[in-house]
Amino acid sequence: DNPIQRKPSWIRVKAPVGKEYKNTRKIVDDHKLVTVCQEAACPNIGECWEKKHATFMIMGEICTRACAFCNVATGKPNALDAFEPFRIADAVEKLGLEHVVITSVDRDDLADGGAAHFAQVITAIRERMPETTIEILTPDFKGKHGALEVVVEARPDVFNHNLETVPRLYPTVRPGARYFTSLQLLAQVKQLDPTVFTKSGLMVGLGETKIEIQQLMDDYRAADVDFLTIGQYLQPTAKHHHIDRFVTPEEFESYASMARARGFLMVSSSPLTRSSYHAGDDFRRLRDA
Ligand code: SF4
Ligand code: SF4
Repeated sequence: DNPIQRKPSWIRVKAPVGKEYKNTRKIVDDHKLVTVCQEAACPNIGECWEKKHATFMIMGEICTRACAFCNVATGKPNALDAFEPFRIADAVEKLGLEHVVITSVDRDDLADGGAAHFAQVITAIRERMPETTIEILTPDFKGKHGALEVVVEARPDVFNHNLETVPRLYPTVRPGARYFTSLQLLAQVKQLDPTVFTKSGLMVGLGETKIEIQQLMDDYRAADVDFLTIGQYLQPTAKHHHIDRFVTPEEFESYASMARARGFLMVSSSPLTRSSYHAGDDFRRLRDA
């Protein structure tokens, strides 16, 4: 086991106690939805849910992979629920979301990796809430033939797929995935539909070096990735990957400058940045600029 390190003073989170937090929780529970906010034990849940910003996790709460940083359970997944797209659309309406982020577990057990289900969720939200912008955070679909096309054709506004870490650390951090498969997926989204914004993120504090991060940023830009998120890895339990170090706020700022200099349209880099953290605010600011 890896003992959990004490968090530094710059990682401070608000306890989830507000009135709107409770309302959000009720809507999530009433619609029998799974959120990554809860499953990943996200430290921002108090702040985000107070603003009714929940990130839904579709296709069940059991994943076919076992990434070393992730708190989601691994095993034999549940059968797909054909009504889930409509429950999600209903919850988006009840929460009055202007921007929604949808993610999922990996479904390597399904022939299309869950691509058609993703597309159905996008379509159901569009039909119910045409003004709501939709951001998806997808698995790599393990290169399953035609899967990516199905999702892109449903026309999400933002297509996010996280590389999570530098290639050298893949065997220990993301053992079920391949760095260049993920990078290529992002490049393909842009080729399939250049009007879709692409986004990706990484966690730092896992043992990566600054030079490796610079290289990764160059790889992202070569793949035409538009938005970048960088946040501190936090170890969910003693069974998960250890934290190599806590990256200081000043270093996050320097990563942000490095990224902006490379031409990303949007950069979020701070200790508590997560893929979906302030995603709607950032996207709308960019779109309306
Ligand atoms: Fe949920 Fe994302 Fe906010 Fe975390 S940062 S609470 S995952 S919306
Ligand atoms: Fe967690 Fe996603 Fe890895 Fe599954 S694929 S273990 S949900 S990070």
